[in-house]
Formats: sequence, C-alpha cells, structure tokens
Amino acid sequence: MALLQIAEPGLTAAPHQHRLAVGIDLGTTNSLVAAVRSGMAVCLPDAFGRVTLPSVVRYGSNGDADVGFDALKAQKIDPANTISSAKRLIGRSLSDIHADENTRFLPYRFGENERVIELHTRAGSKTPIEVSADILRVLKQRAEVSLGGELVGAVITVPAYFDDAQRQATKDAARLAGLNVLRLLNEPTAAAIAYGLDNRAEGTFAVYDLGGGTFDVSILTLSRGLFEVKATNGNSALGGDDFDHRLFCWLLEQNHLSSLPEIDNALLLSLARAAKESLTTDNSTTIQATLSDGTSIATTIDCGTFHQITQHLIAKTLEPVKQAMRDANVRKQDIKGVIMVGGATRMRHVQQAVATFFGQTPLTNLNPDEVVALGAAMQANVLAGNKNDEEWLLLDVTPLSLGLETYGGLTEKVIPRNSTLPTARAQDFTTFKDGQTAMMIHVVQGERELVSDCRSLARFTLRGIPPMVAGAARIRVTFQVDADGLLSVSAREQTTGVQAQIEVKPSYGLDDAAITQMLKDSIAHAAGDAAERARAEAVVEAQSLMDAVNNALALDADLLNDDEHAAIQAALNHVQTKLANAEAAVIRETAQILSKTTDSFAEKRMNRNIQRALQGKKLAEI
Ligand code: ADP
Ligand code: MG
Repeated sequence: MALLQIAEPGLTAAPHQHRLAVGIDLGTTNSLVAAVRSGMAVCLPDAFGRVTLPSVVRYGSNGDADVGFDALKAQKIDPANTISSAKRLIGRSLSDIHADENTRFLPYRFGENERVIELHTRAGSKTPIEVSADILRVLKQRAEVSLGGELVGAVITVPAYFDDAQRQATKDAARLAGLNVLRLLNEPTAAAIAYGLDNRAEGTFAVYDLGGGTFDVSILTLSRGLFEVKATNGNSALGGDDFDHRLFCWLLEQNHLSSLPEIDNALLLSLARAAKESLTTDNSTTIQATLSDGTSIATTIDCGTFHQITQHLIAKTLEPVKQAMRDANVRKQDIKGVIMVGGATRMRHVQQAVATFFGQTPLTNLNPDEVVALGAAMQANVLAGNKNDEEWLLLDVTPLSLGLETYGGLTEKVIPRNSTLPTARAQDFTTFKDGQTAMMIHVVQGERELVSDCRSLARFTLRGIPPMVAGAARIRVTFQVDADGLLSVSAREQTTGVQAQIEVKPSYGLDDAAITQMLKDSIAHAAGDAAERARAEAVVEAQSLMDAVNNALALDADLLNDDEHAAIQAALNHVQTKLANAEAAVIRETAQILSKTTDSFAEKRMNRNIQRALQGKKLAEI
C-alpha cells in the first residue's frame, strides 16, 4: 500500500536545503499560519506579534480587501460588506444555505446563482472561495516576510467532516491565492500529530474539535511514528457561533425584541459572543447596548443560565462522538486521552460534558487555537522533504461514504466511510434496458440509502457501450480517493474497453473557466498586493530598528543628555504611529529619520565599547 507520506515525487530536497513550507489552519473564525523553524513548529506572528488572523474580510469601494482585526472591528458598522464565516458557505449551494438555520440569518446579500454562492458587496460579487483566497493571501504574505523567501507549498487543514465539494473549494481558494497545496489535512488529525509528536503519546485518543462553525471528532491510534485515524465524524454546521446565536435569541426574548435592523443584529450578535467568552472565566456578565432607534438594553446573564440555554448544542456534539466510537469499534474505557481543540472547547460546560461522557478529564495542555496549525506545519515540513531523519506515517480516512446512483434512486456505496486514504475501489454495474448504449453515472456522497438524501457530487456519461441485452454489459466503475480526500472516478465497459473518466468537479463550486478568470483578475490586483507586501517588509525592518534602539537605550541611555534622549524618543514614537496604516515609503522615511537621530548615540556607544575593550590591555595585546 502506498501509504507512506514522505516527499511528493519531484519534491525531494537537496541535502541541507531547507524548503519553505507552512501549515495553514483556515478557520471559520480565526486562521493561522505555522512553520517548522530550527526543528520546532511555531505559529508565525503578524507585524504586531499576533498569531491569529480573524477570518473576516471587508470589501472597500475601490476593490481593496481588508483582512483580519480591522475587518472584524468594522463588522458592526458595515455588516453587508464584511464577510465572516465564509467557511460555512464554501463548497455549498444556495439551497443548502437557505435550508441551514445557521447560515440563513447571515447579514449578506446573497446572489441567485444556485451552483455557486455569491455575496453582493460594494466591491462586486464575491464567492466564499474568493473570500477564503483573500485570507490565504494575507497568511502567505506573512509567511514569506517572516521566513524570508517564497513558499514551496502549504498544508491546509479542513474539517475532517468536509465533503468533496468543500475540500475542492478550499483547494480552489488556495490556487487563487497563489499557494501550492502540498496536502489537505483533516484538522483533528493535524491536532493529533502536534499532540502526539509533542508528548510521544501512545494509545487510542479522541480529538474533540469545537471551533467557531464546525465540530469534528476523530478517533486515532498513536504509536511510535504511526498516526492512524480509525474513524471520523462531525457536523460541519455546528460551533461556537451557535452558542452566540442562542445567546442572541435569548437576549431578544428577554427584551421582547423581534426583527431588528441588520445593524442592530450585528451589534447584538457580537456582544453575545463577547458575553459568551467572558462567561468562560466570570460567573456572570451584563450585555449593554444602545440600538439604532435609541433603545437601551442592559441584561445580565449568569453562567448557570448560559449553560442551560446552550446545553442542547453540546448534546448535539456527542452524537457524532458516539458514532465515531462505534465505527472505530472502541469503547470509552479504551480511550487513553481526549485532546481538546478549538476556541469553543474553552467553555467550562463543554469541558464538563466531555469529561462526564468519557469519564476522564480532557487534555487541555496544548493551546486549542494553535494546535491545528502546528500539526499542519509539521506535516508540511515532511512533505516538503525537509525531514529525512525521523519519518512518521500518517493514515487518514475518508469521512463520508462515496457511491453511485442505481436504478430507483438508490445509492450503492463503493467506498465506505472511514476507509484509509488513499484508496481505490472498483465495482461492476450493468445496463438495465435492452440495447442500452450509454450510461449515466451519478456520483454521490453520504450515508443515506436514497440518492435524494445524499450530496450529489458529479454526473458523467459513458457512451459507446455496444448494444446488448439488458444485464449483459459489464461496466466497471473505479473510485479513487487521493491523500487530500478528493475523488476521481472512471468507468470502463469490460468487453469493448470503452472508457470514460472524470476528476470529480463537484456539482457545487467553481468550474475551471471561472477560476482562470479570477486568476486573471487577481493579476490586475497584483499592484495592490505588491504594495501590501512592501508595507509588511517595511514594518518588519522598522520594528527591528526600533528594537535595536530600545535595547541600546536600556544599556547606555546615560550617554545622552535630556534633549538627545527626548529627540530619540520622539523619533521612536513617530515610527510607531506609522506602523499600523502608513505606506511602505512613509514607514521607511520615518525609520530613516530615527536612524539619523541615533547616529551620534551610536558613535558614543561605539567609543564606550572600544574603551571598555581596551581597558587594562597593553598595546601589544590588541
Ligand atoms: P475556528 O477553528 O472555527 O476558526 P476557533 O478554534 O478559533 O474557530 O474557535 C472560535 C470559537 O471559539 C468562537 O466561537 C469563539 O467565540 C470561541 N472562543 C474563543 N475563546 C473563547 C473563550 N475564552 N470562551 C468561550 N469561547 C471562546
Ligand atoms: Mg479550527
């Protein structure tokens, strides 16, 4: 079995040449990028030292996209043009979104396109794929500035429970952002890698990952260098956001409010989220707001009430947990540890419920925000060919069954869920009418018996079957799932060798032509991207200069008189004020001034150091 994941063909590094590869956790709420540096996986910070990037993009009127903290702040005042939770929309259809309780209330102007979701913003219509690409682009840039070179590729994590369309869409987003995807890796698997490699853990572990918008659970066995996923399950529309939404609804009920303007909804929702987070540490909190019509509200909620109104959401996570354990054929007492991942697992009643269910205290020693990105970075490092000494083996599984539509709208499973990746299976089918010369192949994903209850992935037609009596043709359909969990299907009539093959391009998502067009468009924006990159570099340079000056002040400030000291401090402050928003040229200019202002200080320090070095030495010793 070709299961050993070392380097991809053609990616073997020359000795000592470190190839820059990163792991990216593209989260619903927060995204992170990590890399292995000097043998250690670390999350890479932005110019302000922050490792998380809110997965929020605000579109401006001149086509610019503001990504991260500023966009998050703007969400309250500009909800329609500020897209968050794109991950809840990616790879899904318009009717999925309308049917989903959690996405229906999002404050966006949805387009009418059924195949691809479009969000109308002031910068034009944006698909969730483009929004995700905007986030990935920022992370790519951050990594390139911080690692000092171009990336050979990235491992991008996806919820284990993402279906083929959601995976394909994520890969498309990476392509739009100019990232080479080394692998799509399941988030809980990434977390287990980080945990397992860190703790040299052995045995059967459960990963419980409750993020902002998705819930995943995986059962894995870890043993020396082998990570084997036994089963995975989850709910791709359940997460911390649902707790916010429940609290928001409670708040409306308490204040006898109904259908508020969009802007008030956005405000209350963000206050609900803040309240939820504070209830992790505080026993009660008060939500205060002034609505657009001037109404003021102030509602206090205690921990007990919050737990009570959201307990059903936690109960909803335990169903997939039980299913995964059944699929993996393990009992609670077989589980050696429960690894907690995702910001929402910080909530006390989530930890309590998990502890009660498994009969043990869950493991919270790794930072639940960073662990996925760190594991992805470790995997990226291996795939880029940097790690030849200590190899490890990863056996992941497909989350959902893959099959075909057969006569009567029934599904025939070809690859059952939790099959180890990569995998290939063939199954023979036959014609159902005399003289039938073509066969429509409808590929579906899901666990249900009826095609209408499964997700339609793709349709294609095998033509040129020689006319025969019904049931005489032998059509072998082969399903192949690669290490990213992506499917391709081929069909071949056995007696004549007539063949048809497709790479499953899901029924939902962008086609190649659309992606090519977007890539062309993004080249038009390349000037803006280059400016942003130059800015990021200028910030890093300016910061290292400021660090050097501050260090020098800490050591030798006594060399300066008050005026000189004040002048340097003023120049430092001046640079600081430019870091957040100014263009690269302005940052460089102020840094230049700082550098000039410190010239004579540098000279004095040099003299002092020379004197120190010379003290007590004879000329001959120098
Ligand atoms: P994702 O993987 O979906 O991006 P994260 O793992 O970053 O999500 O988790 C985000 C979720 O965690 C949000 O719903 C956020 O409100 C929640 N969260 C973060 N910190 C806390 C906290 N201290 N208490 C409760 N919930 C928290
Ligand atoms: Mg996550």
